[in-house]
Amino acid sequence: MISVEQAQRQICEAFRPLPAEQVGLADALGRVLAEDVTARVSHPPFAVSAMDGYAVRGTDVTKVPVRLRLVGTAPAGGRYEGRVGPGEAVRILTGGPLPDGADSIVIQENARRDGDGVELTALAEPGRHIRAKGQDFEQGKTLLRAGARLTARDIGLAASANRPWLKLRRRPRVAILSTGDELSMPGDPLGPAGIVGSNGLALSAFVRACGGEPTDLGIARDNTGMLADMLAGAAGADLLITTGGASVGDHDLVQDALAAQGMKLAFWKIAMRPGKPVMFGQLGGTPVLGLPGNPVSALVTALIFVKPAFAVMEGREATDDTESAILGADLKANDLRQDYLRARLERNADGKLVATPMERQDSAMMAFLAMADGLVIRPPHAPPAKAGDVVTVLPFRRDLQGI
Ligand code: AMP
Ligand code: MG
Repeated sequence: MISVEQAQRQICEAFRPLPAEQVGLADALGRVLAEDVTARVSHPPFAVSAMDGYAVRGTDVTKVPVRLRLVGTAPAGGRYEGRVGPGEAVRILTGGPLPDGADSIVIQENARRDGDGVELTALAEPGRHIRAKGQDFEQGKTLLRAGARLTARDIGLAASANRPWLKLRRRPRVAILSTGDELSMPGDPLGPAGIVGSNGLALSAFVRACGGEPTDLGIARDNTGMLADMLAGAAGADLLITTGGASVGDHDLVQDALAAQGMKLAFWKIAMRPGKPVMFGQLGGTPVLGLPGNPVSALVTALIFVKPAFAVMEGREATDDTESAILGADLKANDLRQDYLRARLERNADGKLVATPMERQDSAMMAFLAMADGLVIRPPHAPPAKAGDVVTVLPFRRDLQGI
């Protein structure tokens, strides 16, 4: 058995950043930048007014009230082509370009129109209510870095920088093969000893949540011939995930079937719970991750091993999503396997995170996993722990970035 950290390292080493592709901003949300984004224009591209009012020369408004002659208008999208001379003012609206000669805006609340002139009742401070050219960003400035996952804010920024297309990492393609004689698809008739297979759909959803493109290859029965046939569906994938058939039972044929196809085994068995029988190898250049069949094990191991692999494929640093929390119940000493205990997470009166492991930790119990807010991570050989001790937790994310 190898440690979780060793397994993560070996898995990550098997991946490379995926090629980049051009994507329109409308489809870029949640995708990862393959290169830095620089501004093609300055923002604002020229000095503009931040208010509705009058563009004036500050030297004309050193004593109030004062009357200036109105010589034109500068709405947003329009421009007063002349130059504001002594004793002159230009009507200006929010977003309107500052006319030449003017250096200040008097807001309309402090002005009164009067025939071909305007009476100003407040002093004009130079620069007041003016957004300088490039004050948000200058042309050529790097605004977003390669490896960033794009938010709505980032997309607004890229759009304002006049970048309708971005170079993004291709989405990781992940083929998912479920195995088991007992499995049927949700909604299909159940055999007398059958159960509903849930892992294919759950893992596909997880891959999609991580920003990948899943292909659910369906369910292979527990015979090497059918397994071999269905493995062909993984051609072109960046990662093949199998689930089930990963232990040592007579019907656990996945590793044999893969070996017969020429898979090079990297490791099998990790010192963790759930998820001990995780297997990893390479099949004709495609990394293969063999996950256990138990649904909780399948999702927890996907979280621990697929997410870091995605980070490599997307050319970004893996995030450490763990936090410290106070234990809400006593725990016995741990054995040699790193434990991932399904737990409820709550804030106490002091605002501190409290993690209370659920009473049942059976890796087949999906309802507990769905009810849990995260995992308490207990290292191998952790001594007994008391309620109130500090532990490490991995909170589940409720957004589309986790299980
Ligand atoms: P296995 O790894 O094939 O020995 O499976 C371990 C347990 O997980 C068994 O109880 C299987 O019935 C169950 N199991 C395997 N694959 C799935 C699946 N796709 N969905 C739900 N349960 C599964
Ligand atoms: Mg099985």
